[in-house]
Amino acid sequence: MNSRQIDFCEDLVVIHDPQPAALIQWSAPRKGKWIWRCHIDMTDPNQQVWGFLRRYIEQYDGAIFSSPPFPPKVSVPQYQFYPAIDPLAGKNRQLEPAYIDSTLEKYKIPRDKPIITQVSRYDPWKDPVGVIKAFKRARKHVPCRLLLVGDKVADDPEAEAILTKVKEEAGADPDIHIVFLTHSIPTEINAFQRASDIILQKSIREGFALTVSEALWKYRPVIGGAAGGIPMQIIHGFTGMLVHSVEEASMQIRRLLSQPNLARRLGENGHRRVRDKFLITKWLKRYLLLLLALDRPWRSFSCLRRSQSLGKA
Ligand code: UDP
Repeated sequence: MNSRQIDFCEDLVVIHDPQPAALIQWSAPRKGKWIWRCHIDMTDPNQQVWGFLRRYIEQYDGAIFSSPPFPPKVSVPQYQFYPAIDPLAGKNRQLEPAYIDSTLEKYKIPRDKPIITQVSRYDPWKDPVGVIKAFKRARKHVPCRLLLVGDKVADDPEAEAILTKVKEEAGADPDIHIVFLTHSIPTEINAFQRASDIILQKSIREGFALTVSEALWKYRPVIGGAAGGIPMQIIHGFTGMLVHSVEEASMQIRRLLSQPNLARRLGENGHRRVRDKFLITKWLKRYLLLLLALDRPWRSFSCLRRSQSLGKA
């Protein structure tokens, strides 16, 4: 259906993620170059699924991976592009304090205690149940509220089941606020992030985690699971805190709430890291370089191309 509706006459076509990858097979003859862009964690792919996908991926002129460590070997050139945020978009731009206040009022979230927030789909790899457990442990020692914000994503079949588990774990706890939106509004997500004292992204598996870049850009101290692209953004103890368990997450919540100077420093360093590495200007530069590299395959663009030897054996 997509191949009938789109004529793909551009010089560069970028197809994102596995779902539409097979489009390449339906679009011959191809005019421009085709690149497959992978946003998901490929450290340990299901071999059966990867074997199926690979025959499509290898028809492309190249593949871009977002997550750093060991993308699987493919016979086409591999590039590594980190995702990026737009600082002027509704999700990230400065907001009036009155708008932030009204958003929190709209969702009935009191501002009487420090707020710890995770913004993410209700997905097992985002570990929302682990977030609640970590919060409950920390709250025994420091007063705080937990805000879980997630919207309904059409291609996320597990969301309802995970949400049920999240609600069970939260019980009737008045300090835990679960916001499940049909369509989230970018400026409201921005407001939730800006109103928070700590942002959690306690992922167990992760592609890149744009939510981490968004929070760091807003000078928030971030506690992130050491998975996928999160360690690229969080240098432990310098631009945030990396954790591997519920216990570590709860310990870092206590630590950051009781050491505001440390929390502020992490936020400032985090903002600088996003400014230097994860803004759309960097992204534009890489796409322009990619166009050049595809146009002049005989030239070396070492800053762009990822060595095949980094592939998983
Ligand atoms: N997001 C949103 N509303 C929600 C949950 C997430 O707008 O209720 C946004 C979030 O701000 C981020 C993106 O969706 O921009 C999620 O990207 P990320 O890389 O963190 O995770 P993914 O969902 O792609 O695994």
